[in-house]
Amino acid sequence: MGPLRAAAGGLRRSGGRAAPPAGRSRKGASLRRGAPAPPPTRHLFSDPAEIAALRGDLLGWYDRCKRDLPWRTLAAAELDTDRRAYAVWVSEVMLQQTQVATVIDYYNRWMQKWPTLQALAQASLEVVFELAGQMPRTAEDLQKLLPGVGRYTAGAIASISYRQATGVVDGNVIRVLCRLRCIGADSSSPAVIDQLWDMANALVDRSRPGDFNQALMELGATVCVPKAPLCGECPVKQHCRARRRVEKELVFASQQLFGKPTPVPDVEDCGVGGCPLCPPATEPWDSSLGVTNFPRKAAKKQPRVARTASCVLERRDCHGAPEYLIVQRPSSGLLAGLWEFPSLPLAQGLQEEEERQALADHLQAWMGQPVVAKGLQLIGEVVHIFSHIHQTYVVYSLPLDGDVTLDPASSSSRWVTEEEFYASAVSTAMKKVLKACEKQHRKESSPGKGSKRKRGAKTQGASSTGGGTQLSLYTFLRVPTAP
Ligand code: SF4
Repeated sequence: MGPLRAAAGGLRRSGGRAAPPAGRSRKGASLRRGAPAPPPTRHLFSDPAEIAALRGDLLGWYDRCKRDLPWRTLAAAELDTDRRAYAVWVSEVMLQQTQVATVIDYYNRWMQKWPTLQALAQASLEVVFELAGQMPRTAEDLQKLLPGVGRYTAGAIASISYRQATGVVDGNVIRVLCRLRCIGADSSSPAVIDQLWDMANALVDRSRPGDFNQALMELGATVCVPKAPLCGECPVKQHCRARRRVEKELVFASQQLFGKPTPVPDVEDCGVGGCPLCPPATEPWDSSLGVTNFPRKAAKKQPRVARTASCVLERRDCHGAPEYLIVQRPSSGLLAGLWEFPSLPLAQGLQEEEERQALADHLQAWMGQPVVAKGLQLIGEVVHIFSHIHQTYVVYSLPLDGDVTLDPASSSSRWVTEEEFYASAVSTAMKKVLKACEKQHRKESSPGKGSKRKRGAKTQGASSTGGGTQLSLYTFLRVPTAP
């Protein structure tokens, strides 16, 4: 796995930029989906004079107030286009994983170690060799040719590094645009996301696209924040329809208070039933929320429940220190490219013995030799919550006293020391798995600590020469003979 992907997987995701929707086409949403009429103009930026004013207000504010960040300094000072694009790419990948404050240190260290795409390519054979060290020059090519680069990252690199007038949509931009134009439909729905991309592309400043995009994101990160936006300090407040709506509501409330129930026409309402960008009729305006009525997300789905059997295969090196076998996950899907202990997703509702047998069969197919289910030591269960999956790992361990010959057609694998394991691109869940295993082994090796297993008892198939509970691989893999 390339270091860039490793960083993407290894950094903690904690409130950084929301992963942008990737791979959508750029034509108008309504054309693509082949039907609905264009949304009412109140949700759009259709007045050229207002667009020009908004660009000027936002860029003026950005020039005065922008944060001093290493990737911005580098992008502004670097004359070499490839280096500039590479520097922006690295920052954008990292910013999608975690917060700005956390990224700064990672970024500086990364750029010291791999200052160019060529340096990165030397460190990993998996990174962009076909490009001969040259970054693609447009958002379209970046998305098409660079592994793992979606629409947002491509737009950010192209606008910041090449001054291509293309918009970006990340979590901050979604929030700002939804407030500016009172978009209250589910902001994670494809229809709304498409509309926001169209809007971002229409709004982006033609002469300073990179600065404009960064300014919009900066506004969302520092002023138009999720919970308590600083509307009084906002450079684009005069263009903000959410704020205008709050003001109207206040006027209406005060009129009611003084017994003047003059209905204030709700100028921020479309008056169009079924508007695809208005809040659903079932979720009316909540005056206690003010501008934070926007954006809205559909209620979260309950996370999917999943069980996976994981086996910590362990051997001792020549000094008696443990080494673990890890394998690489596929290059797409959940935890793409990360390393893990050999694992098998389990069907729901299996009994413990069935789960154990399924894992033994899986290991057997993988190693090409018989594996005895009863030889797998059950360590316990480790729960890890992903955003959309409630994952339980059923942890087994299997001590070995030699190498195993793995099917070369299966995924990459390697033996690692404990230190190397923690330094590898492994998920937090796998770190928990190893910790559970080590804890259990400590319990077993410290007398009187109440191990569930009877002290001194040998696991089935234990080597007669290995001492303790260490298994001989040969013995373990041997097909059991009838008693
Ligand atoms: Fe956001 Fe308030 Fe500015 Fe509107 S006025 S864009 S809600 S900070």
